[in-house]
Formats: sequence, C-alpha cells, structure tokens
Amino acid sequence: MQLKMPWIDNTRCTRELDCPAARLCKHDAMTLREESGDEPGTAAGPPRIDLEKCKRCGDCEHACRERAIRMI
Ligand code: SF4
Repeated sequence: MQLKMPWIDNTRCTRELDCPAARLCKHDAMTLREESGDEPGTAAGPPRIDLEKCKRCGDCEHACRERAIRMI
C-alpha cells in the first residue's frame, strides 16, 4: 500500500510567513519561502515540501488552519 503524501491547495493557502504547519513538521520537510516583494507580510508562495524528508505522517494537514493541506 502506498502512503498518502501532503498536497497544498494554492487557492486556500494564505502564505503566512510563520506557517504553523511548516513549524510543526518534526522532519524538517516543509520549507518556508521568503517574504513576497509584491505583498509584504506574506510569503512569496506556499511552503515547499521535500518529499525525500517527508514521512507522510499527516501532522501538517491537521496544523493548517486554512485546511490548505490534504493528504492525497
Ligand atoms: S506529512 Fe509529516 S513529515 Fe510530511 S511534511 Fe507533513 S508534517 Fe512533515
């Protein structure tokens, strides 16, 4: 059986600079992006997910207040 992996819905992600899902990841698999030049106070994009480091635990899905992360 193949484990699900996290997927970020760009239409729901609010690009918080201090993304709680990225902070929570114990495996350092989510990397925050730099601040947007066009929209100060938000990140330039959703966090990046390193699928080599990701353990498919699903913690980030629960941590995202915007429900922008789904395990698929
Ligand atoms: S599924 Fe787990 S290991 Fe993978 S990015 Fe989310 S919190 Fe990190």
